[in-house]
Amino acid sequence: MSNFQYDYVIVGAGLFGAVFAREALQKGLKVLVIDKRHHSGGNIYCENIEGINVHKYGAHIFHTSNKEVWNYVNQFVEFNHYVNSPIANYREKLYNLPFNMNTFYQLWGVKTPAEARAKIEEQRQPYRDIEPSNLEEQALFLGGKDLYETLIKGYTEKQWGRPATEIPSFIIKRLPFRFTFDNNYFNDLYQGVPIGGYNTLTNALFEGVEIHTGVNYFDNKEKYDQLARKVLYTGKIDEFFEYQLGKLEYRSLHFETQVLDQENYQGNAVVNYTEKDIPFTRIIEHKHFEFGTQEKTIVTHEYPHEFSKDNEPYYPINDTDNNALIASYKEMAASADYCDKYLFGGRLADYRYYDMDDTIEAALSLTKTELDNQ
Ligand code: UDP
Repeated sequence: MSNFQYDYVIVGAGLFGAVFAREALQKGLKVLVIDKRHHSGGNIYCENIEGINVHKYGAHIFHTSNKEVWNYVNQFVEFNHYVNSPIANYREKLYNLPFNMNTFYQLWGVKTPAEARAKIEEQRQPYRDIEPSNLEEQALFLGGKDLYETLIKGYTEKQWGRPATEIPSFIIKRLPFRFTFDNNYFNDLYQGVPIGGYNTLTNALFEGVEIHTGVNYFDNKEKYDQLARKVLYTGKIDEFFEYQLGKLEYRSLHFETQVLDQENYQGNAVVNYTEKDIPFTRIIEHKHFEFGTQEKTIVTHEYPHEFSKDNEPYYPINDTDNNALIASYKEMAASADYCDKYLFGGRLADYRYYDMDDTIEAALSLTKTELDNQ
């Protein structure tokens, strides 16, 4: 008989914690989930305002090519047929994203794939021989100056708060190039938004799980540690280790949300503002994620922001220094002092730019190593 009240205390009621909690419960284990916020769901939590699901912590579109993950989430919720097709606004002109035949037509008037390829080759010419070592070089190498200056540079520098020459090039790999008239932002096999919103998914995952919200693990760490055989921690890993090795850097966001007394503000869920001088990066019109027909609409201006103790750590900054630091923290986490008692996972504990499907995949993988022999 174990002396512990729970098998696992899970710190963080986000998607990673939700999947682990569900799987542990399924195996008949006792789990307690705690979260310092006053709700569960982490950053995919939506607040319903005027009948519209407002993505309170930034827009989320579920997309994956991982069939196991897709089947997994479909046990809990159905997905609608939303396809992400953001529009970019640069100096009052609109462009389709990702870079595709529509974009090339809008930029240069080229009408066929052959013309587009020729134009891009011409644009790339001055940068052909560089070996890209940062995002600016990568973008110029791939597409040349016009695409870079119109659709990438301003957005990226606002988003990350530093020159594009100081940003790792992998960030831009999320933006595909296409020689078809296809405005689907993602290349994945499966995509959509949960019918009824993301809370439907997280509530289903947490069904029957004991959750205490509005409690901070660090206010009572010893108590929580003693409650369970093991602790799964999904928060900031540097905070867990009391910043012993130094602080990891994050990029934060600030959202300004308005209810508008009109039915349709911008005709699309996502419009990016790629000019440097416009302080926000995008305007999200939430109803369009679910094809809403409400009388009013809700829009959110998204402003990138320095991370501080007063705001949320949204994006890890996976440059060389931060990657070295996270590797050292992970070594600590794997050391004998910690590995028997603590598990770590999710965007913040892994310090990885995970999408939702990556998060679920990582959580399922942890459940396999951790729970399968119990
Ligand atoms: N990006 C860009 N122009 C755009 C949209 C994105 O240059 O109009 C770049 C930018 O560097 C950004 C990256 O692509 O950080 C990924 O953007 P995405 O919107 O896919 O990521 P999210 O912020 O939604 O995770």
